[in-house]
Amino acid sequence: MNFSMGHGFSVGHTVSHAFRLDQAQSVVLQQAMLQRQRELVEAVRGRRYQPRCVCHNPNCAHEFTDLEILIGFRDDPNDYTTECPKCRLRSEPRLYASTQYSRVDMAYYCPTQTLERLKALSKLPVDDIRVVHSAVYNSAVTHFGGLKQAFARLGLKYAFEANLDWRKHVGPFLGKLPDAVIARLLGAGAGQVRRLRNSKGIKPFRARDLLDEGAGILTEHVDDGLSKESSEPTG
Ligand SMILES: [Zn+2]
Repeated sequence: MNFSMGHGFSVGHTVSHAFRLDQAQSVVLQQAMLQRQRELVEAVRGRRYQPRCVCHNPNCAHEFTDLEILIGFRDDPNDYTTECPKCRLRSEPRLYASTQYSRVDMAYYCPTQTLERLKALSKLPVDDIRVVHSAVYNSAVTHFGGLKQAFARLGLKYAFEANLDWRKHVGPFLGKLPDAVIARLLGAGAGQVRRLRNSKGIKPFRARDLLDEGAGILTEHVDDGLSKESSEPTG
């Protein structure tokens, strides 16, 4: 089972050819991949990102997983809603961005919507995009790792964002994600990531390992305080 989400969001595609997965395993694996990609982006950016969507249907109030939010998007630049997997009602997700000191929430755009909105912003400095178009900025960071990488998807060169010092943050993630995924999120070359990993004697990413850990990752994810905060009883 592969989900192709907008521009290049296809977690299953990266890994599912390696061995056969049943549908439940595939979901666990893709969710675990998303979680780990998010952790990498968070480590680099020093912010925590939490997409959230609680179904607007009061009789349902389903709390979406990250994967469900992405799957439910219509891939339509002007439709911000995502479909509830339980009751099919469409609701608008939010993105929470937090540091040690602050927490803000904003609209959460899918990759297609993010790129569509970025098109007009390629001449603006980073701070202008971050402050005036915070939902676009933070959605771009979440999906693509940064503005530079997002503009590259559009075939545009973005001159205002400095190259990341990616080697500084990448250590704990080597072998924990495919080299190509790490490279894409950090704006590095896949060969550079692979060589660094090899030089440290770290084995390549294996989907099987992540799947084995996946259940644990998911449990932690659901149990954290942020997820629980707004689950309201449906009475
Ligand atoms: Zn629902």
